[in-house]
Amino acid sequence: MTAEKKRSLHETSVEQFQRAADLIDLPSNYRSILASPKNEVIVNFPVWLDSGEMKIFTGYRIQHNNILGPFKGGLRFHPDVDLDEVKALAAWMTFKTALVGIPYGGAKGGVTINPTDYSTSEMRRIVRRFTHALGSNIGPETDIPAPDVGTNAQTMDWVMDTYANIAPPAFKQSVKGVVTGKSVECGGSKGREEATGKGVLFSLRHWCGETNNRLDELTVTVQGFGNVGSHFARLAAEAGCKIVGVADHTGTVGNSEGLDIPALISHVKTTGGVKDFSGAQELETEELFSMKADVFVPAALENQVTAERAKTLGAKLVVEAANGPTTPQAEEILAQREVTIVPDILANAGGVIVSYFEWLQNKSSRSWSTKDIETRFREIVWDAHDNVVATCKEFDCSMRDAAYVVALRRITACYDRRGIFP
Ligand code: NAD
Repeated sequence: MTAEKKRSLHETSVEQFQRAADLIDLPSNYRSILASPKNEVIVNFPVWLDSGEMKIFTGYRIQHNNILGPFKGGLRFHPDVDLDEVKALAAWMTFKTALVGIPYGGAKGGVTINPTDYSTSEMRRIVRRFTHALGSNIGPETDIPAPDVGTNAQTMDWVMDTYANIAPPAFKQSVKGVVTGKSVECGGSKGREEATGKGVLFSLRHWCGETNNRLDELTVTVQGFGNVGSHFARLAAEAGCKIVGVADHTGTVGNSEGLDIPALISHVKTTGGVKDFSGAQELETEELFSMKADVFVPAALENQVTAERAKTLGAKLVVEAANGPTTPQAEEILAQREVTIVPDILANAGGVIVSYFEWLQNKSSRSWSTKDIETRFREIVWDAHDNVVATCKEFDCSMRDAAYVVALRRITACYDRRGIFP
């Protein structure tokens, strides 16, 4: 095998949908529309730091497609955020929302920043000034951000408050839906915080049903222990899975008897990372990938499962909680090794599904019960998985290709009927 070809993330996202487009002989005009985002907004904005200095930050909002509904997608605050990454993440949102059949398009945004380098008051000023810079590019009927890496409910509360403060008085209340993933106190939905992790567990449950496996007999390794990874690990452990390895940016810990996940969550809250957790052995980074386990759940960043790591990956199933965690070459190697991948646009769609519920609740000024949310959530996730499994059989293809086929069929059916303006 030659050295892994370096591709831009956006190139990877385009190749993924083109493969599925080939399966359904998609005409070239649709391919051209979907190969580039509709709008690319880049803002450079100044913020006063606590030291009295002023600093310029760069932020992005990439709006990929909105044929099926308003643009929708997270805001990422991370030092590696750049145009290429945000373009890919925005495209994945278009396919994700189409795949699960919710009336949204796809977008993504972010700021190139390490949030841990700034105080809370600096972060509040950065978020407010970024929101102001985005201005009318976002809005409850146009483009609706949500949390992603490095952002959370507090970030969304600040975005919403800033947006409401610059909206005309008559709209101050009705603009709550400009973002989802807010705190429940500020109009967020019950169940949103854990939704992505819970959706990942639904994926695993569905796979168990298809393959006659039992959830409570599975061993699992998890990379990333933030919002998605920690909620997934907690819920999976509650369902009987043994979580034998966990990694984050501070280190990797393992325990063949199963890690005590609630204790690990407390440790991370106090220390900022999994490193030095007393109930485990410290492992090398690479050991997490080669460790024998039934399931590997990448829940950190892109391009983590490389060709090199794919050759010795210890799991037979990868459930992609992160966006874009597997490189194209790694995917080929895993296919040869008969390792199944439940693709990101299917496995991590739980967040945007419950975000959709939050948006509906904001529109109607109502609050749904946890039971209502759970029932509707499960139904949407289950339908999407059933659709993907049926499409895999139809084309004898991977779950990723099948997921894109389902999404492309929905998007292009709408284009077929609406036509292209004028
Ligand atoms: P987060 O910021 O809450 O957590 C990120 C985690 O990744 C942290 O534990 C961090 O330590 C870890 N990490 C970072 N670099 C790492 C490295 N090199 N090795 C190991 N671990 C590393 O972010 P999140 O919201 O949990 O998002 C994680 C992934 O899930 C991202 O790909 C994101 O796009 C995707 N996702 C998130 C949501 C959501 O609702 N938050 C929804 C869909 C998809």
